[in-house]
Amino acid sequence: MKKDIVIIGAGPGGIFSSYELIKLNPGLNITVLEAGNPLNKRKCPIDGKKIKSCINCKPCSIMNGFGGAGAFSDGKYNITNQFGGTLYEYIGKQQAIELMHYVDGINLAYGGEGTKLYSTANTSIKTLCLQNNLHLLDASVRHLGTDINYIVLDNLYNELKDKIDFRFNSPAVKVEKADGLFRITTGKGEVFEAEKCIISAGRSGSSWMESVCQDLNIPTKSNRVDIGVRVELPALLFSHLTDELYESKIVYRTEKYGDLVRTFCMNPRGAVVSENTNGIVTVNGHSYEDPALQTENTNFALLVAKHFSEPFKDSNGYGESIARLSNMLGGGIIIQRFGDLVSGHRSTAARISESFTVPTLAATPGDLSLVMPKRILDGIIEMIYALDKIAPGTASGDTLLYGVEVKFYNMEVTLSENLETNHKGLFVIGDCSGITHSLSHASASGVYVARYISKNPDK
Ligand SMILES: Cc1cc2nc3c(=O)[nH]c(=O)nc-3n(C[C@H](O)[C@H](O)[C@H](O)COP(=O)(O)OP(=O)(O)OC[C@H]3O[C@@H](n4cnc5c(N)ncnc54)[C@H](O)[C@@H]3O)c2cc1C
Repeated sequence: MKKDIVIIGAGPGGIFSSYELIKLNPGLNITVLEAGNPLNKRKCPIDGKKIKSCINCKPCSIMNGFGGAGAFSDGKYNITNQFGGTLYEYIGKQQAIELMHYVDGINLAYGGEGTKLYSTANTSIKTLCLQNNLHLLDASVRHLGTDINYIVLDNLYNELKDKIDFRFNSPAVKVEKADGLFRITTGKGEVFEAEKCIISAGRSGSSWMESVCQDLNIPTKSNRVDIGVRVELPALLFSHLTDELYESKIVYRTEKYGDLVRTFCMNPRGAVVSENTNGIVTVNGHSYEDPALQTENTNFALLVAKHFSEPFKDSNGYGESIARLSNMLGGGIIIQRFGDLVSGHRSTAARISESFTVPTLAATPGDLSLVMPKRILDGIIEMIYALDKIAPGTASGDTLLYGVEVKFYNMEVTLSENLETNHKGLFVIGDCSGITHSLSHASASGVYVARYISKNPDK
């Protein structure tokens, strides 16, 4: 089938590139190939009763389908160049921020109106952090919440579905170059040909992206992996931070090793959830805008970044091995009270049930020190004591730690400033490029490429 443009992946990168392309070029013949289901058919079977933990569905409804990995996320769109990706290195800081605001405007227009935009500008929390050797990163955060995020995606799909040829359950398995066209074959055996192809396969498509780069001789660089735990504590302890900022990205340099530990993905009054990436179960968290769905707890991750160089370059493999170890010992996610961890005890079901902080995820009580490398765990413990100074109670014995949280990064694809590979007309955007790792950066990269293609149709 001959198309003008084929987009691979219907996550935020794919959605926003198709939205902008069709807005600027009505009548363009665009196909979006998506490995997963349409939004309304994305249902994770875990119900806490019959199915309590991940059964490795293929495709995974949490990671794959319209909306991508972000569909059931907390919908936090961070408007910043300080984290969430390095898109600005390609397109400049100002343009990156402008595009993130543009995406924010679309989200508001499609159902997000009325949601709150938080900001670190002029906050006294920054001073409080600095006084305690902690560093608050600058950002504005639009918090859609899992529920509104879903509505926005549903509205965007309804806007696009008659203008764009969406093909669900259609994973691209091969991308080849033939006679000046890109030939894309799907798992169903369909073949699409187009002069331009945008790959936006996200994190779940990372191994596949690697194979495309190998087949087409696209240079790549290895990237980093972040390893840590998810912390859960009473929401009241962090309310002075979360009420004002919603999400605070705080960085701490450990005294022992000089490593950087940072907070990540803060979910006020949220729930801890498990996540399955290619069969490996790791921990994550989300929260709801709707007060009826909120919990008594706040959760956030504490992560340490690991970069490897020669001779070992497989940073994701390293993270996977640690996650596998935790899956092996805990059958999935391990939970431990902070008090048990520092006193060298395994948490037991009895100790967890006596904890004043009630877990929001049913995980296996265990001992994280048997799973996490000492250096990483020491850093996390140091940071918990540092956070205790700005949010007293953080280092309480009843603070719950879930492990492991691993943030995998795609290898970085070598791209031009137009996010184009060494093959003219083949673009790589979003998380599978290795240069974004957030909703706002992935979406902005989609708009950027759509505008570039629209301005340069013959290039
Ligand atoms: C539980 C969770 C919570 C999160 N919360 C936040 C948050 O609050 N804020 C934030 O900024 N970020 C968050 N993130 C990260 C965010 O979701 C991602 O950064 C973002 O979705 C990346 O967008 P993307 O389009 O690049 O990739 P993805 O969203 O991963 O989408 C890629 C799509 O491509 C499809 N695909 C993969 N391979 C193929 C193939 N071969 N053929 C066809 N289709 C394919 C996948 O099925 C998927 O639907 C969260 C992630 C998770 C898992």
